[in-house]
Amino acid sequence: MHELSICQALLDEVARFARKHGAARVLSVTVRIGPLAGVEAGLLQRAFTAARRGTVANDAQLVIERAPLILECRRCGRQTPGRLSHMRCAACDTADVRVASGKDLIFQSLELETAEEAHVQ
Ligand SMILES: [Zn+2]
Repeated sequence: MHELSICQALLDEVARFARKHGAARVLSVTVRIGPLAGVEAGLLQRAFTAARRGTVANDAQLVIERAPLILECRRCGRQTPGRLSHMRCAACDTADVRVASGKDLIFQSLELETAEEAHVQ
């Protein structure tokens, strides 16, 4: 499963951060997924539950945030929010746009159990 390999890569990253900050436990992991990331939130959630077992993130909650779809217009150069069903520039209504943001899965933040919360960007 595609989502499982994503989770394994994510958990590797999480383990590195947890070690670096001397955390005993990871409480939550937040990711942002764009509508064109090709990742299904429900599958990602299930894959995470399977992949976290026995890792430092064993009890961690996966928080999934939605990243907006941002289109960049090739005609007027503006960046405007888009929808999958309406891939046009909101300023000049041309369909000659490229996706500026919305194709990625971004590792957003991490909540670690230490004296104070550690956040990463
Ligand atoms: Zn435009």
